[in-house]
Amino acid sequence: MTEQGFRAAYPLIVGWIKKTLVEHAAAARPVASFGFNRLPDYYVAQLLASSKAVVVSRVPMPPLSAMGLDRFRDFEQMNAGGMTFFDTYFVRADHARDESLHFHELVHVIQWRLLGLERFLACYADGLERFGYRRSPLEVMAFRLQGRFQREAQPFSVDAACQKLMRELTGHGDKTVAPDPI
Ligand SMILES: [Zn+2]
Repeated sequence: MTEQGFRAAYPLIVGWIKKTLVEHAAAARPVASFGFNRLPDYYVAQLLASSKAVVVSRVPMPPLSAMGLDRFRDFEQMNAGGMTFFDTYFVRADHARDESLHFHELVHVIQWRLLGLERFLACYADGLERFGYRRSPLEVMAFRLQGRFQREAQPFSVDAACQKLMRELTGHGDKTVAPDPI
Protein backbone atom coordinates (compact mmCIF):
# COMPACT_ATOMS: atom_id res chain seq x y z
CA MET A 1 0.00 0.00 0.00
CA THR A 2 1.35 3.41 -0.89
CA GLU A 3 1.87 6.04 1.76
CA GLN A 4 -0.74 8.10 -0.07
CA GLY A 5 -3.24 5.23 -0.09
CA PHE A 6 -2.76 4.68 3.62
CA ARG A 7 -3.13 8.42 4.33
CA ALA A 8 -6.46 8.45 2.46
CA ALA A 9 -7.84 5.34 4.17
CA TYR A 10 -6.52 5.98 7.69
CA PRO A 11 -9.14 8.53 8.89
CA LEU A 12 -11.93 6.37 7.44
CA ILE A 13 -10.70 3.26 9.25
CA VAL A 14 -10.21 5.14 12.53
CA GLY A 15 -13.68 6.68 12.17
CA TRP A 16 -15.20 3.26 11.58
CA ILE A 17 -13.37 1.80 14.61
CA LYS A 18 -14.52 4.61 16.91
CA LYS A 19 -18.12 4.32 15.72
CA THR A 20 -18.09 0.53 16.11
CA LEU A 21 -16.65 0.71 19.65
CA VAL A 22 -19.21 3.33 20.68
CA GLU A 23 -22.07 1.22 19.28
CA HIS A 24 -20.94 -1.79 21.31
CA ALA A 25 -19.75 0.03 24.45
CA ALA A 26 -22.71 -1.13 26.55
CA ALA A 27 -21.96 -4.79 25.75
CA ALA A 28 -18.21 -4.56 26.36
CA ARG A 29 -17.08 -6.51 29.42
CA PRO A 30 -13.68 -6.44 31.12
CA VAL A 31 -11.80 -9.60 30.20
CA ALA A 32 -11.23 -10.20 33.92
CA SER A 33 -15.01 -10.70 34.35
CA PHE A 34 -14.93 -13.86 32.17
CA GLY A 35 -13.13 -15.63 35.01
CA PHE A 36 -10.62 -17.56 32.91
CA ASN A 37 -8.20 -19.66 34.99
CA ARG A 38 -4.96 -19.43 33.04
CA LEU A 39 -4.95 -15.89 31.61
CA PRO A 40 -3.93 -14.28 34.96
CA ASP A 41 -0.69 -16.31 34.81
CA TYR A 42 0.21 -14.70 31.47
CA TYR A 43 -1.20 -11.19 31.63
CA VAL A 44 -0.97 -8.64 34.45
CA ALA A 45 -4.22 -7.93 36.30
CA GLN A 46 -4.28 -4.35 35.05
CA LEU A 47 -4.42 -5.49 31.42
CA LEU A 48 -7.20 -8.01 32.12
CA ALA A 49 -9.18 -5.31 33.92
CA SER A 50 -8.71 -2.60 31.27
CA SER A 51 -9.14 -4.74 28.14
CA LYS A 52 -12.69 -5.45 27.07
CA ALA A 53 -14.41 -8.20 25.11
CA VAL A 54 -17.70 -7.99 23.26
CA VAL A 55 -19.49 -11.24 22.44
CA VAL A 56 -21.29 -10.98 19.09
CA SER A 57 -22.96 -13.31 16.61
CA ARG A 58 -20.73 -11.94 13.83
CA VAL A 59 -17.48 -10.06 14.33
CA PRO A 60 -17.65 -6.59 12.73
CA MET A 61 -15.04 -6.06 10.03
CA PRO A 62 -14.07 -2.65 8.67
CA PRO A 63 -15.65 -2.10 5.22
CA LEU A 64 -12.26 -1.80 3.56
CA SER A 65 -13.48 -2.25 -0.01
CA ALA A 66 -15.96 0.62 0.48
CA MET A 67 -12.97 2.72 1.52
CA GLY A 68 -11.27 2.00 -1.79
CA LEU A 69 -9.17 -0.87 -0.44
CA ASP A 70 -10.46 -3.56 -2.78
CA ARG A 71 -7.52 -5.88 -2.33
CA PHE A 72 -8.51 -6.52 1.28
CA ARG A 73 -11.90 -7.90 0.29
CA ASP A 74 -11.06 -11.47 1.40
CA PHE A 75 -10.03 -10.22 4.81
CA GLU A 76 -13.16 -8.10 5.10
CA GLN A 77 -15.38 -11.06 4.28
CA MET A 78 -13.65 -13.44 6.68
CA ASN A 79 -16.04 -14.74 9.34
CA ALA A 80 -13.47 -14.23 12.07
CA GLY A 81 -13.64 -15.87 15.50
CA GLY A 82 -12.20 -12.72 17.01
CA MET A 83 -10.92 -9.27 16.05
CA THR A 84 -9.21 -6.62 18.17
CA PHE A 85 -9.55 -2.88 17.89
CA PHE A 86 -7.31 -1.05 20.32
CA ASP A 87 -8.21 -2.18 23.88
CA THR A 88 -11.40 -3.98 22.88
CA TYR A 89 -11.94 -7.20 20.98
CA PHE A 90 -14.96 -8.87 19.50
CA VAL A 91 -15.49 -12.58 19.99
CA ARG A 92 -17.93 -14.70 18.02
CA ALA A 93 -20.47 -16.24 20.40
CA ASP A 94 -19.37 -19.83 19.67
CA HIS A 95 -15.86 -18.85 20.88
CA ALA A 96 -16.94 -16.84 23.94
CA ARG A 97 -15.53 -19.45 26.36
CA ASP A 98 -12.45 -20.24 24.26
CA GLU A 99 -9.63 -19.11 26.57
CA SER A 100 -7.03 -19.63 23.85
CA LEU A 101 -8.85 -17.23 21.51
CA HIS A 102 -9.02 -14.61 24.27
CA PHE A 103 -5.28 -15.17 24.77
CA HIS A 104 -4.71 -14.50 21.04
CA GLU A 105 -6.76 -11.31 21.00
CA LEU A 106 -4.98 -10.01 24.10
CA VAL A 107 -1.69 -10.30 22.20
CA HIS A 108 -3.23 -7.88 19.69
CA VAL A 109 -4.26 -5.54 22.54
CA ILE A 110 -0.59 -5.40 23.58
CA GLN A 111 0.48 -4.86 19.95
CA TRP A 112 -1.93 -1.93 19.62
CA ARG A 113 -0.52 -0.47 22.83
CA LEU A 114 3.12 -0.94 21.79
CA LEU A 115 2.69 0.47 18.30
CA GLY A 116 -0.04 3.06 18.82
CA LEU A 117 -3.06 3.44 16.60
CA GLU A 118 -1.46 4.66 13.40
CA ARG A 119 1.58 2.40 13.40
CA PHE A 120 -0.52 -0.65 14.27
CA LEU A 121 -2.86 -0.02 11.34
CA ALA A 122 0.02 0.73 8.95
CA CYS A 123 1.91 -2.38 10.04
CA TYR A 124 -1.19 -4.61 9.95
CA ALA A 125 -2.28 -3.37 6.50
CA ASP A 126 1.24 -3.76 5.12
CA GLY A 127 1.52 -7.31 6.48
CA LEU A 128 -1.92 -8.25 5.18
CA GLU A 129 -1.14 -6.96 1.73
CA ARG A 130 2.30 -8.55 1.45
CA PHE A 131 1.76 -11.88 3.17
CA GLY A 132 -1.99 -12.49 3.61
CA TYR A 133 -3.83 -12.79 6.90
CA ARG A 134 -2.27 -15.93 8.36
CA ARG A 135 1.33 -15.00 7.47
CA SER A 136 1.18 -11.30 8.28
CA PRO A 137 3.80 -10.53 10.95
CA LEU A 138 1.44 -9.28 13.67
CA GLU A 139 -0.74 -12.41 13.22
CA VAL A 140 2.30 -14.71 13.15
CA MET A 141 3.34 -13.20 16.49
CA ALA A 142 -0.14 -13.76 17.98
CA PHE A 143 -0.42 -17.34 16.64
CA ARG A 144 3.12 -18.15 17.78
CA LEU A 145 2.44 -17.04 21.37
CA GLN A 146 -1.00 -18.69 21.31
CA GLY A 147 0.72 -21.92 20.25
CA ARG A 148 2.96 -21.73 23.32
CA PHE A 149 -0.11 -21.11 25.50
CA GLN A 150 -1.74 -24.23 24.07
CA ARG A 151 1.30 -26.51 24.18
CA GLU A 152 3.32 -25.43 27.21
CA ALA A 153 2.24 -25.72 30.83
CA GLN A 154 4.81 -23.15 32.01
CA PRO A 155 3.37 -19.60 32.06
CA PHE A 156 5.34 -16.68 30.62
CA SER A 157 4.93 -12.92 30.47
CA VAL A 158 3.18 -12.18 27.17
CA ASP A 159 4.01 -8.51 27.56
CA ALA A 160 7.75 -9.23 27.73
CA ALA A 161 7.53 -11.74 24.86
CA CYS A 162 5.63 -9.21 22.72
CA GLN A 163 8.14 -6.47 23.42
CA LYS A 164 10.99 -8.76 22.38
CA LEU A 165 9.25 -9.91 19.19
CA MET A 166 8.20 -6.35 18.37
CA ARG A 167 11.80 -5.19 18.72
CA GLU A 168 12.81 -7.85 16.21
CA LEU A 169 9.98 -6.79 13.90
CA THR A 170 10.23 -3.02 14.03
CA GLY A 171 13.12 -2.03 16.24
CA HIS A 172 10.62 -0.04 18.26
CA GLY A 173 9.23 -2.47 20.81
CA ASP A 174 11.36 -1.32 23.69
CA LYS A 175 9.01 1.32 24.99
CA THR A 176 5.30 1.62 25.36
CA VAL A 177 3.90 4.59 23.50
CA ALA A 178 1.05 6.54 25.02
CA PRO A 179 -2.20 5.22 23.57
CA ASP A 180 -3.69 7.52 20.97
CA PRO A 181 -7.04 8.95 22.07
CA ILE A 182 -9.92 7.07 20.51
ZN1 LIG B 1 -5.18 -12.36 15.25
